[in-house]
Amino acid sequence: MGRISLNQVTKSFGDVNVIPPLDLDINEGEFVVFVGPSGCGKSTLLRLIAGLEDVTSGEIRIDGQDATMVPPAKRGLAMVFQSYALYPHMSVAKNIAFPLRMAGMNKAEQDKRVAHAAKVLNLADYLDRRPGQLSGGQRQRVAIGRAIVREPAAFLFDEPLSNLDAALRVNMRLEISELHNTLKTTMIYVTHDQVEAMTMADKIVVLQAGRIEQVGSPMELYRTPRNTFVAGFIGSPK
Ligand code: ADP
Ligand code: MG
Repeated sequence: MGRISLNQVTKSFGDVNVIPPLDLDINEGEFVVFVGPSGCGKSTLLRLIAGLEDVTSGEIRIDGQDATMVPPAKRGLAMVFQSYALYPHMSVAKNIAFPLRMAGMNKAEQDKRVAHAAKVLNLADYLDRRPGQLSGGQRQRVAIGRAIVREPAAFLFDEPLSNLDAALRVNMRLEISELHNTLKTTMIYVTHDQVEAMTMADKIVVLQAGRIEQVGSPMELYRTPRNTFVAGFIGSPK
């Protein structure tokens, strides 16, 4: 579960092409980071995978199935946004259970999944609170909890930590890495932060102007950057 491949995927907005033909393979359980400067197409790529945008051409396969025409809710992926989009009037438990309630899942199964997510995320003592009574980091965890309960084939994160202060960012970075170790689910993580990319990724995808400049492990990119853009961006001496 969680194998994703993009074959000759392109995306244009009107006349403007933002993703030229792009191929990418993401393996089951991999932690993949899309990194690159602002405007290079990271969010667009993630939204194409999530199904929040339609590809202009090409094909996206999820676990071998052509997902190109499959609507977001049916792709089995869970997106975690930078703005938490929590419901202020609902308890933490209700916020986490929200997608399950919408899907009409029975209450016992909902409760089981919420309890599991709360345990994994250290939120068990906060389930009765409202989002307004939580810290920024706790709110981010609630947003992640809402993704966990769906038991997705992959988690998609779009700069989830950019609203947090520096100390909390380091903390949450470790927590998300731990979460990946626990769940072993595929994660695609978008950031413009090289440090996040280097410390979190199994595989880094360096993007510039919608193009993949290089794909490799943090060590590979550091040791053998393919060009000066990658070298400059990753911070290696070449
Ligand atoms: P990143 O997430 O790397 O900052 P984006 O994927 O948001 O970059 O944007 C890539 C390019 O696509 C940018 O030039 C942006 O202006 C453009 N773009 C993104 N979404 C739209 C849209 N809905 N309509 C028109 N242009 C868009
Ligand atoms: Mg973006």
